[in-house]
Amino acid sequence: MAKLFIDGVWQAADGGETMPVFAPSTGQEIARIACAGASDVDRAVKAARRAVEGAWGRLTATERGRLMMRLAERILDHAQELTDLEARDTGKPMSQARADVQALARYFEYYGAAADKVHGDTIPYLNGYNIAIVKEPHGVTAHITPWNYPAQMFGRTLAPALAMGNATVIKPAEDACLSALRIVELAAEVGLPDGALNLVTGRGEEAGAALAAHPDINFISFTGSPEVGTLIQTAAARNHIGCTLELGGKSPQVVFADADMDLALPTVQKAIIQNAGQTCSAGSRLLVQRSVYDGFTERLAESFAKVRVGPHHIDPDCGPVINPAQRARVQGYIDRARADGIPVIAEAQYVPDLPAGGYYVLPTLFGPVPRGNALACEEVFGPVLSILPFEDEEDAVRLANATEYGLVAGVWTRDGAKAQRVARRIRSGQVFINCYGAGGGVELPFGGVKKSGHGREKGFMALEEFCVTKTVVNYHG
Ligand code: NAD
Repeated sequence: MAKLFIDGVWQAADGGETMPVFAPSTGQEIARIACAGASDVDRAVKAARRAVEGAWGRLTATERGRLMMRLAERILDHAQELTDLEARDTGKPMSQARADVQALARYFEYYGAAADKVHGDTIPYLNGYNIAIVKEPHGVTAHITPWNYPAQMFGRTLAPALAMGNATVIKPAEDACLSALRIVELAAEVGLPDGALNLVTGRGEEAGAALAAHPDINFISFTGSPEVGTLIQTAAARNHIGCTLELGGKSPQVVFADADMDLALPTVQKAIIQNAGQTCSAGSRLLVQRSVYDGFTERLAESFAKVRVGPHHIDPDCGPVINPAQRARVQGYIDRARADGIPVIAEAQYVPDLPAGGYYVLPTLFGPVPRGNALACEEVFGPVLSILPFEDEEDAVRLANATEYGLVAGVWTRDGAKAQRVARRIRSGQVFINCYGAGGGVELPFGGVKKSGHGREKGFMALEEFCVTKTVVNYHG
């Protein structure tokens, strides 16, 4: 569908330009999408403004919520179709794509049900006054999303914005936006008023930049790289509007000597293999207490070597990465680490008959990685796990905090008090103790500190991001 969805209608981009979309599993072209320019973005923002001042803005919170819950049901009715689309577009294994589509539906269910439960407040003040604190939508919100979890990300950013009554414009990533193109259609089918949800596809530096800089946008929700996050925050500052930035991570998994190793091992592995490591909250740094380093590493190596890498449709453990540039980037990290003499502890394996044109990288386990090495501090965004030994609790905390990022952390120990102490001292938006949720469920507030960004998505906190507080002071004598 090489068109844009604006004001409830499919429209060609003004410039008529389109670009190809490739399947990561095979490298073959599977679709073309429209390349929106500034004039298309302007049309989408104007449609959103009309919606928020018109039919969409007049709905009650309950009516908005009902529409969203209807969309959740419609998504579940189309779960197989969306799963196929998502898996083909991103290369992720079918079972992961299926889980992502379920999460997408859950976002609309959760926030649809929450739409009429965000209450204001009253404040005791001077005699003769009534003070009401009311929550209002920003107005028109802009949403710029990455390619790694396109369907989930769609629900995560748009559902709370719509629940609060904002009209929205989304610019999904050019590498993977086919599910988003289908979801806006499903939203129109359940009766979402025209203009409440507009979608412009295209290049980040054109469509994305035009959207972020548009003077009639009231708030920006961005998920992507720290570099583009800086551009988004700069654009927001120029228009004096707020933004949330969900950026990258280099999340530590801290395994103490007293951890339940049977519990930790499969989770530690999944946290880097899932989505071929292209997860902002991937557990990409494994910190293991020195006294159990050899034993734990040996067991992990054994299971890591059995990970099967292949095309999405055979539902392997790990699929390809998103595009040739990403493959080159990840492979570059692997090659440099080898050249630096960092020992390879294990490699996964390709399935037989791997499609020749796919963007595959062999998941690799490195260790011990020197503390200053790029693999110990930089986000690879691929299936590469770095293992670093630590000495004691103090050293573990120091090491866990020793990157520019702070998104998620895992702590593995049977000592409850130690787990609490370490969890409180790690600087990150989420900490998992004896589990690892890669961002966790829809209900759990999620977001970063430091270079991982600011603002919170998921849970009720996301609703706070998508509204403004107004104080109404009424003198009644
Ligand atoms: P990216 O920053 O290149 O792109 C993200 C989005 O921004 C895309 O839609 C892209 O088209 C758009 N964009 C690119 N240039 C732009 C510009 N100049 N102006 C406006 N928009 C522009 O990121 P990516 O490569 O798609 O995703 C990978 C990165 O995203 C990783 O660093 C990863 O950690 C991060 N990420 C973070 C989270 C999180 O929740 N913290 C989730 C997923 C991905």
